[in-house]
Amino acid sequence: MSERKLHPDTLALHAGHRSDSATGAVAVPIYQTTSYQFRDTDHAENLFALKELGNIYTRIMNPTQDVLEQRMAAMEGGVAALALASGQAASTFAILNICEAGDNFVSSTDIYGGTWNLFSNTLKSLGIECRFVDPEDPESFRNATDDKTRCYYAETLPNPKLNVFPIQEVADIGRELGVPLIMDNTAAPMLCRPLEHGAAIVLYSTTKYIGGHGTSIGGMLVDGGNFDWEAQGDRFPLLNSPDPSYHGAVWTEAVKPLGPIAYILRARVILLRDLGSAMSPFNAFQFIQGIESLPVRMARHCDNAGKVADFLKGHAKVDRVIHPSMHSGEIRRRADTYLQGGYGALVGFELSGGHAAGKAFIDSLELLYHVANIGDVRSLAIHPASTTHSQLSADDQAATGVTPGYVRLSIGLEHIDDIIADLNQALAKA
Ligand code: PLP
Repeated sequence: MSERKLHPDTLALHAGHRSDSATGAVAVPIYQTTSYQFRDTDHAENLFALKELGNIYTRIMNPTQDVLEQRMAAMEGGVAALALASGQAASTFAILNICEAGDNFVSSTDIYGGTWNLFSNTLKSLGIECRFVDPEDPESFRNATDDKTRCYYAETLPNPKLNVFPIQEVADIGRELGVPLIMDNTAAPMLCRPLEHGAAIVLYSTTKYIGGHGTSIGGMLVDGGNFDWEAQGDRFPLLNSPDPSYHGAVWTEAVKPLGPIAYILRARVILLRDLGSAMSPFNAFQFIQGIESLPVRMARHCDNAGKVADFLKGHAKVDRVIHPSMHSGEIRRRADTYLQGGYGALVGFELSGGHAAGKAFIDSLELLYHVANIGDVRSLAIHPASTTHSQLSADDQAATGVTPGYVRLSIGLEHIDDIIADLNQALAKA
């Protein structure tokens, strides 16, 4: 089957697996094994020398993970992917795969708090500098770039502001300067395909919409195969010079018979080998189940969230609604350019009663869950000022888009009338 010609909705069901070669099973089996019997010593030698790609040990690859990886690579329009234990592992690997101590990278300020901590503290302690810049000014990425800059990093649909990132604008600057753009597309699977807008690498916390059912933690890196690492020479020594930890392999040369997969192959055979953040086969199976209904779920998420935004907009206790459909000007243009499959499931709103009203609203919810998560089939709510953002000063909260009365909703798949009825009764008490 020629997968490139199929639509993402079809790839979600068919890419990477038709039936099990050993049993004919149509559902992807869970290969719950640590290791794999080599055919003979030549086979083993070839696998270790990467002359042949195949299963050695489940920390590095596994047939169930492999189906998920192939499926996500096909759906994103990439060349290969790497499943990891969490979204945090995916963002860590994304950077460590091309940055060493003394290097830097440029990130949008509008990113998930966990990623912010990783970039500002843990990577800093490893000698890797993150330069944060304002995503509203794409030129700020250029201005922060020097000859030690290894990548740009951003989220497609960052909350709480829900200002869609200028993907093509920043990717174009990066391509001019020889710097790849890495996009965290966690909040917009099916809605946006960042590789089509110039990004080089896409990453996911599969914990959210990909799994969808709030059961499993996981992450994914997808290599677009569209960035010429070799042409950038000294900017990417980890890919372009001999690797002492793999008998002197130069990754951009070693992959030539295999395709443009230097980045993702190094992430697997060096970082995953050494750091060990593997996705379990069982979780890979769970994510495959999630992906199969992802296109239908995303459509319903978007539909329900749009109706919730409309409802909130007309409510007397709500000062402002934050939803991509309600932005205007340049920010709305970006939402319409990059979110071609819908505006997503996230809706924010500001209660006129401020902090106390935000807490009262949350405490009054009966159907929506009060959790620090997004992307579940169930509708979720949180009051960031008293939870996720409570350690920030009032000024820093405001800079991230969190006002005292701000509430974040991740709208699920319940009947829209039931969602709105619950919001309505909780608003009456806020
Ligand atoms: N990226 C985004 C946009 C997220 O929202 C999250 C988690 O909330 C992560 C990455 C980290 O993912 P995980 O919790 O799977 O490690």
